[in-house]
Amino acid sequence: MQKLQTITVAHGDGIGPEIMDAALKILDASGAKLRYDTIEVGKKVYERGVKSGIEDDAWNTVLKNKILLKAPITTPQGGGVKSLNVTLRKTLGLFANVRPCRAYHPFVNTKHPEMDVTIIRENEEDTYGGIEHRQTFEVYQCLKLITLPGTERIIRYAFEYAKSHSRNKVTCFTKDNIMKLTDGLFHEIFKTIASEYPEIEAENLIVDIGTARLADTPEKFDVVVMPNLYGDIVSDVAAQISGSVGMVGSANIGTDCAMFEAIHGSAPDISGQNIANPSALIQASIMMLRHIGQNQPAERIQNAWLKTLEDGVHTIDMFGSDSKKKVTTDEFADELIQRLGEIPSILEPVSYAGQQKVQIPELKLSRTELRPSLKQKRELLGVDVFVYWEPENPNLLAERLQEAAGQKFELSMITNRGTKVWPNGLPETFCTDHWRCRFKATNGRTNQMEILELLQNLTRYTIDTIKTENLYTFDMEPAFSLGQGE
Ligand code: NAD
Repeated sequence: MQKLQTITVAHGDGIGPEIMDAALKILDASGAKLRYDTIEVGKKVYERGVKSGIEDDAWNTVLKNKILLKAPITTPQGGGVKSLNVTLRKTLGLFANVRPCRAYHPFVNTKHPEMDVTIIRENEEDTYGGIEHRQTFEVYQCLKLITLPGTERIIRYAFEYAKSHSRNKVTCFTKDNIMKLTDGLFHEIFKTIASEYPEIEAENLIVDIGTARLADTPEKFDVVVMPNLYGDIVSDVAAQISGSVGMVGSANIGTDCAMFEAIHGSAPDISGQNIANPSALIQASIMMLRHIGQNQPAERIQNAWLKTLEDGVHTIDMFGSDSKKKVTTDEFADELIQRLGEIPSILEPVSYAGQQKVQIPELKLSRTELRPSLKQKRELLGVDVFVYWEPENPNLLAERLQEAAGQKFELSMITNRGTKVWPNGLPETFCTDHWRCRFKATNGRTNQMEILELLQNLTRYTIDTIKTENLYTFDMEPAFSLGQGE
């Protein structure tokens, strides 16, 4: 006997309350064993001056129940407010964003009737750390952080997802031909973990051609895993070409907590009219039921939803020449409820009986005795010093830096926007006011004190230093990229 589970529910803004009412009505009718704690998040909370969009009481409810079903919210423009979605994902450690994108041909228009792809996006790292700085008059920087545990977790999750959903293939998208260290790590970990799942086909594609192929022949893909920024873009492409962004739900999964939502926004242009399509939030609710092990009501809702679609009962956004009945948000829910217990005859019915929940993977490579960094020898052999200097002849800058370098360091290279401009730069290379100056220790090894002395010397020579990056080797392997043209 399934036990009653309390979940947190947020009705959100715009069309949020309308589609949430429809989704809850369906959940109640399906036999799901749920109780709801309702919280307020979003616009009204922001307007009370709470920059995070969520108050302490609501936070405590989310933390207590661990499962959140959330309707879209309206994020105010400007005013220094923080995106509630990013805050929830990062604070709750929701490392995986899962978006199943499938076609419902011929009932929803799509050029790809066979499409059935699940995008699994890393949800916490990459450029979404939001670590950005303006460093000079001309140059702005955003840090891309890819970590070993973060990468291991998302890739293991992708394979576990494939296993529990009887999927045959996992594809990884990276750009490691350019970002050899960060995306290179993602690709390497993918290869290592893929070897633990010999029954699942594994392939890696460069993200640009991968996205092009996904948009052209999505039926050749199954589960696709990738870092955060690529995933943000590719998952919208995949949802759109499956037929409609308005029909895709999304799960944000963490080790303790999980959040389920529609991928669309609060649609203020149609709010209050009772015409919004509740399908994406219904799909999110089904993912939630499967996550908490309530497979039976999940299956009943999904089959009834497919039957409603194929009976031509459509909200205005889906309504076309093959539609039979145009319904409001409310009516769509009622039509679906009437079909609970039925199965579709044209679209393929689903069966979740006996299906295992996706296991949240243990970290083996990065957080156990196998952790390579515990065994590897890390040595410091120099430093990249980033310098503000007006765009002029780099030879003049090199002369000053060489004088300031002293006995312990030698200047080995200067780059501008990553391209080598000294020694032997080309006059054609466009330069900004931001120079990366590479100093290598003359005896092959250095330490923090010597680097501080170098920085003091540079300051004495009126060099305006912005930041430094240490140059390490791990087990003699250089752990930094070369300059373009080096
Ligand atoms: P949107 O997804 O709200 O709307 C885009 C278009 O799709 C609109 O024409 C809208 O009417 C239509 N649409 C969206 N959902 C629909 C549905 N269920 N049924 C029928 N039509 C639907 O995107 P937007 O207009 O760029 O954003 C509006 C607000 O939503 C913004 O404040 C944005 O920040 C926020 N937003 C929130 C989330 C979230 O909470 N997860 C996600 C995206 C955007």
